[in-house]
Amino acid sequence: MGRDRDRQHKRPHRPRASRVEHAQSRLARPVAPGPLTRLACYTWAAPTTLVGLVAGTLTLGTGGRVQHRRGALEFHGGFARWFANRIGFDAMTLGHVILGRDAPSLEELRDHEQAHVRQAERWGPVFIPAYLAASMLAWSRGGHYYRDNWFERDARRACGELD
Ligand SMILES: [Zn+2]
Repeated sequence: MGRDRDRQHKRPHRPRASRVEHAQSRLARPVAPGPLTRLACYTWAAPTTLVGLVAGTLTLGTGGRVQHRRGALEFHGGFARWFANRIGFDAMTLGHVILGRDAPSLEELRDHEQAHVRQAERWGPVFIPAYLAASMLAWSRGGHYYRDNWFERDARRACGELD
């Protein structure tokens, strides 16, 4: 912080920003959440994370592995691979847990799955029912239960994938 202030002072003839400009630039800048906000996010998403941890525990008990990336636990192999093959996915997010077929799948899909982590932090305990409801809504409108699901479209938009 102090370093930033020093850098600003050294900048020559820096024009003074108006109050409005200052507020706008503040809004545009991504704000790193503080520890209390992070704790609230983890707590709010905990019911969904718990479901993920059950699958994660099964994964570890069946020869799978776990890694920690960007605030989420990523499980792959073992049960996660079996489940992925059974359902037909490469990676799936349950709160702060991401299940992946294998490590390369997790690597490739990390941005997308992290967008789902942010959704789980917003939707909290209703994330899973809301996701399933969105699938049913998409299907009832003649769309695809996965591709046209609002949560999938939102995740694709969030990480710049074409919709
Ligand atoms: Zn997705």
